[in-house]
Amino acid sequence: MKLQSVNPFNQDLLAEFEVFDNNSLEQAITEANRGFGLWRQFTYSKRADAVKRLASLLKKQRDSLAKLITCEMGKLYKEALAEIDKCALACEYYADNAEQMLAPVQATTDASRSYITYQPLGVIMAVMPWNFPFWQVFRFLVPVLMAGNTAVLKHASNVPQCALAIEKLVKEADLPDGCFRTLMVGSNKVEQIIADKRIKGVALTGSELAGRQIAKVAGYNIKKSVMELGGSDAFIVLDDVDLNLAIPTAVTSRFMNAGQTCISAKRFIVQSSIAEQFVEQFKQAVGQLTLGDPLDPATTLAPMARNDLRSELHQQVTHSLKQGAVNLLGCERGEGDGNFYQASILGSVKPGILAYQEEIFGPVASIIEVADDQEAIAVANDSPFGLGASIWSQDNERAEQIALSLEVGNAFINGLVKSDVRLPFGGVKRSGYGRELAAEGIKEFTNIKSVWIK
Ligand code: NAP
Repeated sequence: MKLQSVNPFNQDLLAEFEVFDNNSLEQAITEANRGFGLWRQFTYSKRADAVKRLASLLKKQRDSLAKLITCEMGKLYKEALAEIDKCALACEYYADNAEQMLAPVQATTDASRSYITYQPLGVIMAVMPWNFPFWQVFRFLVPVLMAGNTAVLKHASNVPQCALAIEKLVKEADLPDGCFRTLMVGSNKVEQIIADKRIKGVALTGSELAGRQIAKVAGYNIKKSVMELGGSDAFIVLDDVDLNLAIPTAVTSRFMNAGQTCISAKRFIVQSSIAEQFVEQFKQAVGQLTLGDPLDPATTLAPMARNDLRSELHQQVTHSLKQGAVNLLGCERGEGDGNFYQASILGSVKPGILAYQEEIFGPVASIIEVADDQEAIAVANDSPFGLGASIWSQDNERAEQIALSLEVGNAFINGLVKSDVRLPFGGVKRSGYGRELAAEGIKEFTNIKSVWIK
């Protein structure tokens, strides 16, 4: 079996790699485990220096790394540049804050002294997706390292060059050997790796299907897991919305990264009195998106990452149309060799229609009309997912009431739902459990130890 890197814009085979045999896998895990013995003894300040070197390298190699992302998974070059910048920011943030986040906390008990301390666990495994091939890895890796753990990565099979580039960066940043290893394996090896006694936890970012499998294996082996899974975020438009603010964000949220973002707005839940106006303006703005070469600055809608994902998306769209959704725009593949899908809008989406219930992971927006605030909340919560949501209104108090009623991990008012290293990120329901980022994220893979002294 080989891992292939294929350019989604023209199907060029860029590189291919043999998967690890059992010996190489054993060697990598051994190295990560040995690395832990050394790395855990580093002071926070020494770890921070190393992670800051990583940030400098990201900044120095920004252009070439972004180009690699664009050529391997297809996103717009300017989006890839922003992704690299965000990784560097995460390095600096945790380098500056990890020590204080994990400082021992004194507790008042019947002891003469008692406290809570956060100690590293060992080698943590990451199973990561291709849609943000650097950011997803860095937002896991940096806090895990700063907490004193080491890590191994099984990246998505279609981004092997990004996986190797991250390993190379960590080496260049002069972290001790084994602090981070990329495992060139397919998903069939994940169970065996989680079961290895040297692996102390697993973080998955990916689909619900992968989540069920990996959480089951982690549970069977009694290992800590964090699940960052799919989403079908609501973008709730109230009747007093400022459309000048909402429309551009609606377009960005749904169509950036060719719609392949877990926290994209996917269900546009619009109050009836404003629906016609919203749909008209949204359609006009979406209609201006231009498919093309993601390296070309004139392109505003990127190809999808893989052809099989485009076929799945098209099936979801045609099925929804058969069930009664209305084609307001697009709903077809784009022309050319790239995995293009037209910027699309489905109208009249209702309960019972696939697009109402399932995650649509591509450039397709669904419009759902509702009568009032209560119905907007009910529809937003009528989803198996609970990752993010945004509410659009000129009345912040009204919007905040709605935000607090939503079953999601991230609620934004009059703003694009985004991950921010300073805020915990994650979901509820079938969007997963556990948190990444901020202080909550760095504690996930620590032994929260209570110490009691008579
Ligand atoms: P995916 O198919 O689940 O793949 C994610 C990772 O899991 C890949 O490394 C994949 O390996 C591996 N994998 C898949 N099935 C597996 C199995 N049965 N056992 C072990 N490993 C398995 O997801 P994707 O298509 O790459 O990514 C899209 C999904 O990720 C969407 O649902 C999206 O919403 C979600 N996502 C969530 C977040 C979040 O923060 N909540 C962020 C980004 C994306 P292979 O590539 O080798 O198959």
